[in-house]
Amino acid sequence: LVVLQKIRKSFRSADGAPRIVLENVDFALAEGEIVALLGKSGSGKSTLLRIIAGLVSPEDGEAVYRGSPIHEPVSGIAMVFQSFALFPWLTVRQNTELGLEAQGVPPAERESRADVMLELMGLAGFAGALPRELSGGMRQRVGIARALVTNPDILLMDEAFSALDVLTGETLRNDIIDLWETKQIPTRGILIVSHNIEEAVMMADRIIILSSDPGRIRTEIAVGLPRPRDADSREVRALID
Ligand code: ATP
Ligand code: MG
Repeated sequence: LVVLQKIRKSFRSADGAPRIVLENVDFALAEGEIVALLGKSGSGKSTLLRIIAGLVSPEDGEAVYRGSPIHEPVSGIAMVFQSFALFPWLTVRQNTELGLEAQGVPPAERESRADVMLELMGLAGFAGALPRELSGGMRQRVGIARALVTNPDILLMDEAFSALDVLTGETLRNDIIDLWETKQIPTRGILIVSHNIEEAVMMADRIIILSSDPGRIRTEIAVGLPRPRDADSREVRALID
C-alpha cells in the first residue's frame, strides 16, 4: 500500500545545527497488515507517520502510496492524533464530517455517513454534542470516526490511546481490532505509533523499532500470533535503544 524508500529527514535544533531524525529509512506497509512503530522519544516515529500522511516532506527519498508519490495529504490515508485534535466549537457530527468536506462530498451525504460512522464507533446519540461534553475515550472515538468516515485505505494512529486511561484505551483498541477483523471498515492497512509495548504486541502483525541514533530502522519483529493475544512483551522491550 505504502512504500518508503531511503527516507531522510533532519530538523534544525535550537542552536541552528541540523539534527538527522530519519536516515535511510525503508519501509513498506502491505495490504492487510497492522504494523506498530516503536522507538524512544525523539526517534522520529511521528515524523515518519507525518511523512506518510503527507504533512511533512522528506529531504531525500520518497513515500509512495499505490504508485503515486505522497506530497500532500491524500484521501486514502487518514490519521488519528494523540490529542484528538477536535474543533471544540463544532459538534461531534460536524467534527466527523470534516474529512468528507475536504473531499467535496455534498452536505446531506456527509451527515448520513458521519452518523453511520458515529454509530459504528459507539457514539449514536452524541452527534449533536460538543467535544467538551464527552469523556476522553469518547473524544478519541470521534477522532477515529473522523478518520474512518472517509473510508481510508490506510489508518495512521500516533499514540492514539496514550491520553486515555488504561481500561478506556484497551476497550477502544479492542473495538478497532474488532472492526478490522470483521471487515466493518474498508481500511486495508494500519500503522500505529506507540510507547506501549503491550499495545503494539496486542495489535500488530509486525513491529518495527526505530533507533534514535541515527534514526534508522533497528529491527523488525513478526508477531504472528492469532488474536486475542496474551503475548510476552519483555523480548520486544529489550530491543528498544
Ligand atoms: P515521541 O515519542 O516523543 O513522540 P517521536 O519518535 O515521535 O517522539 P518525532 O516527533 O518524530 O519523535 O521527533 C523526532 C525529532 O525531530 C525530535 O528531536 C523533535 O524535536 C524533532 N522535530 C520533529 N518535528 C520538528 C519540527 N517541526 N521542527 C523541528 N524539530 C522537529
Ligand atoms: Mg511522536
